[in-house]
Amino acid sequence: MANGKIGVTTENIFPVIKKFLYSDHEIFLRELVSNAVDATQKIRTLASFGDFKGELGTLDVRVDIDKEKGTLTVTDRGIGMDAEDVDKYINQIAFSGAEEFLQKYKDTANNIIGHFGLGFYSAFMVSKKVEIRSLSYKEGAKAVLWTCDGSPEYTMEECDKSDRGTSITLYIDDESKEFLEQARIDTLLKKYCRFLPVPVISGKKQEWKDGKMVDTNEDNVVNATEPLWTKKPADLTDEDYLKFYHELMPGQDDPMFWIHLNVDYPFTLTGILYFPKIKNEFDVRKDRIQLYSNQVYVTDQVEGVVPEFMTLMQGVIDSPDIPLNVSRSYLQADTAVKKISGYISKKVAEKLDSMFKADRKAFEEKWDDIKVFIEYGMLTDEKFFESAKKFYLLKDVNDKYFTLDEYHTLVEGEQKDKDGRLVYLYATDKTAQHSYIQAAEDKGYSVLLLDGQLEPHMVGLLEQKLEGVSFVRVDSDTPEKLIRKSDDKGSGLTADQTEVMTILFKSQIPEVDKAQFMVGFEEISADAAPATVTQNEFMRRMKDMAAMQPGMSFYGDMPASYSFTVNTDQPAVKAIIEETEKTIGAKTSDILKQISALNDEIANVSKEAQDKKESVPDMKEQNEKISALRAELDKEVSDYAAGLPKVKQIIDLALLQSGLLKGAALSEFIKRTAKLL
Ligand code: ADP
Repeated sequence: MANGKIGVTTENIFPVIKKFLYSDHEIFLRELVSNAVDATQKIRTLASFGDFKGELGTLDVRVDIDKEKGTLTVTDRGIGMDAEDVDKYINQIAFSGAEEFLQKYKDTANNIIGHFGLGFYSAFMVSKKVEIRSLSYKEGAKAVLWTCDGSPEYTMEECDKSDRGTSITLYIDDESKEFLEQARIDTLLKKYCRFLPVPVISGKKQEWKDGKMVDTNEDNVVNATEPLWTKKPADLTDEDYLKFYHELMPGQDDPMFWIHLNVDYPFTLTGILYFPKIKNEFDVRKDRIQLYSNQVYVTDQVEGVVPEFMTLMQGVIDSPDIPLNVSRSYLQADTAVKKISGYISKKVAEKLDSMFKADRKAFEEKWDDIKVFIEYGMLTDEKFFESAKKFYLLKDVNDKYFTLDEYHTLVEGEQKDKDGRLVYLYATDKTAQHSYIQAAEDKGYSVLLLDGQLEPHMVGLLEQKLEGVSFVRVDSDTPEKLIRKSDDKGSGLTADQTEVMTILFKSQIPEVDKAQFMVGFEEISADAAPATVTQNEFMRRMKDMAAMQPGMSFYGDMPASYSFTVNTDQPAVKAIIEETEKTIGAKTSDILKQISALNDEIANVSKEAQDKKESVPDMKEQNEKISALRAELDKEVSDYAAGLPKVKQIIDLALLQSGLLKGAALSEFIKRTAKLL
């Protein structure tokens, strides 16, 4: 029998293991089972090279609980260890600089484990004593028993063991009794060992008997040793992929399609990524992709490990380059992992590109469902944007699809404004914006439909990326002005007429919640609508953004300001202008003249005062007169307007077109219209 001190050059390794890793103590099971699986694969390899000529026997790994003894044992039939191996691999866990390293990374002990071959020692997180019984595959090897109670002292002696392989027995400590429960162990094995390449057996299969679950005689194998991603894509059918998907993500609808990743250069990586059908709700769940390292589960917390947009996908990624046993922040900083992330993003883009090229029609049919992935990717991943712009599709209101290049060519002729910028018109709601779409199409313009959740952001991104292109929503201006071909047209009204007509229309616009209207006049054309309500693109985008993100409530709370543009070329409008002139023109121009005279007086007096360097008198009297005259003008014009059902009719039609006519105002409109009939 040999006694010794474990060759770690520091005394604090156990305290570190026990203390700092306490939160994650369940990983001990993964460590021990992975070691057992490794040892099993090694014997297989040795046998295949002819370096082991003995009987392989059944190769499996067992996890057994003995409640009475309070032990948990992991047994394998792998290569085993002789005394020399145990000394080398278990005792000499020292490595140069270990002490320094531990000192430096005390707080992130998670990173140490695994990276420096301390996996086995995680057993001490849950044990008061650990025994290793092992018989090496080497000819004439003697079985060895190693015992350690968690202090750096161990004992090593020969023992009886006729079966090749290793058996590690944990005497579970009082705080960790949960690991003596079969159900708890089953859960852990399911989580960490579900796809290990060697059968892992724990407990017995259960069946229903007399109303409860009871053990059968059959061993319970917890894992699938050849998970789908390890197979060749050519050997698999759609059914295989779907079946695997449902095992992985129970209770989900079928995915739309999947990508089987399979590479061995520049690093080894396999995996299957599924594109789920995203329901109308934008539910980003972060536990949809599982990371594996050689079929050993690492984590499902993949933010920072895979590109952000892929957190919308589901599936598995397996790479031996993904380090086991490291904290997520460490994982994110790992250069191999970073490369993997970039690589996956590239693969996804390639797959989408090949789908697009292989069958454009099928791609278009899927587009509405997959665009959220693609847009999310384009918005968050510069490189992905570059690849995706080849197959990114714009859809118009008539369900026609265009690539960015195709669309550019389509609208280049008609939709350039006077400054040479290309204007892409878009609608966000085909029904609500129907008449605006119609008006734009009547002018020969194409209108895109951008009704996805991410499209307000896409508009901003595309404006940045596509040179000389602006996006303008169809209802943000009168059809004439959507794409400004020349400088603004006039209104054909005199200054006085403009004043009067502004009051005339403004006084008749009903109250609309959280909206204010700026009345303006423009000679549009005789056959265009008498009036239109539009909302400035910039203001609307601000409000839209505010609605989406907190902290911008300033814009959100502001009343929306709309332009109410009256078409002075339209015959009904023309008639109203003439009629008004005839009926109250004398009166209104008299008032306006008085106002103008008073304003002149004020201007003269203040100029004189300034010239003499005297202080300007307040001219209260004149100002009060002006206010009174304005009030008189307002009353005169609005009283007159109130008697003109056509004015109200024009206003209501414009409001109706933009979805702003509601409630009492709408009822009144209906009544009035019926009367006019
Ligand atoms: P790691 O597995 O990261 O190298 P461990 O502390 O878990 O670190 O194991 C150290 C070494 O001990 C392993 O590399 C292996 O050589 C040996 N070992 C551990 N468990 C077994 C086992 N069940 N069978 C054979 N060798 C083992």
